Amino acid sequence: MADIGFIGVGNMGRPMAANLVKAGHAVTVFDPVADAARAAEAAGCRRAADVAEAARGRAIVLTMLPSGAEVREVYLGEGGVLTAARPGDLLVDCSTIDVATAREVSEAAARAGMAMLDAPVSGGVRGAAAATLTFMVGGEAEAVARAEPILLAMGKTVVHAGGSGNGQAAKICNNMILGASMIVVAEAFALADRLGLERQKLYDIASKSSGQCWALTVNCPAPGPVPAAPSSNGFRPGFTAAMMLKDLRLAQAAALATGTPTPIGAEAAALYGLLCAAGHGGLDFSAVFLMVSGEEA
Ligand code: NAD
Repeated sequence: MADIGFIGVGNMGRPMAANLVKAGHAVTVFDPVADAARAAEAAGCRRAADVAEAARGRAIVLTMLPSGAEVREVYLGEGGVLTAARPGDLLVDCSTIDVATAREVSEAAARAGMAMLDAPVSGGVRGAAAATLTFMVGGEAEAVARAEPILLAMGKTVVHAGGSGNGQAAKICNNMILGASMIVVAEAFALADRLGLERQKLYDIASKSSGQCWALTVNCPAPGPVPAAPSSNGFRPGFTAAMMLKDLRLAQAAALATGTPTPIGAEAAALYGLLCAAGHGGLDFSAVFLMVSGEEA
């Protein structure tokens, strides 16, 4: 059993913290939103009054925060994790943030004698609840080995992606593939509709042909062929269009910083930007189908 600090218990963090409790760990949480902290308390966590109390004296401190700005504040700010934790402590940020901030915070942790990992996840709220998340981890191998048993109480797969920041790099590259492939699958179904090709026929053929991909077979953007997909359930997420836009913009920032031409990734970011501006940011990201088909939600 480990004494764990968990900072940021929103949609993802709360079920993750709850799974740590279920695995027999002592979990102390902090979240400035009282309802979020209370929900974690109801799941068996202890509540801390601030970041420092959640981080002080723990074997491991986990964070699950909205973006790089909050990660910077929680780790580097006054009363932050780096002032409360001790040399030798293990810090794991599971948020999806920009690579540069992940590396900067991890370097500051290393200067303070602490091991830090970036460990963003794939699997969404459902994966967090079911403890089936995939963790993409950047940092030193020794720290990854220390963190692995804790991460496996919240997920099924831990992949060491390389040095600091590489977990975030893996996450944004994966989601750039996903965001772009979802758009072209949506376009294919919209085109099929106009050509008089039944959606189910396109699904049956493409899912067994070279067009096969996750966006088609699991999260099909056209309502009908996959009854469990968000598209067949009013586009209820799932993974929201707003989250996809966030990840695509992180990918674009990284592409700009490294001078990598990513025209399809850029176009995908622009299209999800339009979808969100049209008021659909809270729908599943497969709702991009509404935009390309002209259908109503
Ligand atoms: P969320 O907004 O529901 O939760 C974030 C929590 O952090 C909130 O409860 C908020 O109050 C808290 N917080 C903000 N500032 C804080 C601070 N200074 N100190 C302590 N807590 C603070 O977001 P989420 O959906 O849980 O996502 C968290 C992260 O996981 C994001 O980076 C997101 O991109 C990533 N992610 C989300 C999903 C998903 O499906 N929701 C999937 C994969 C990855």
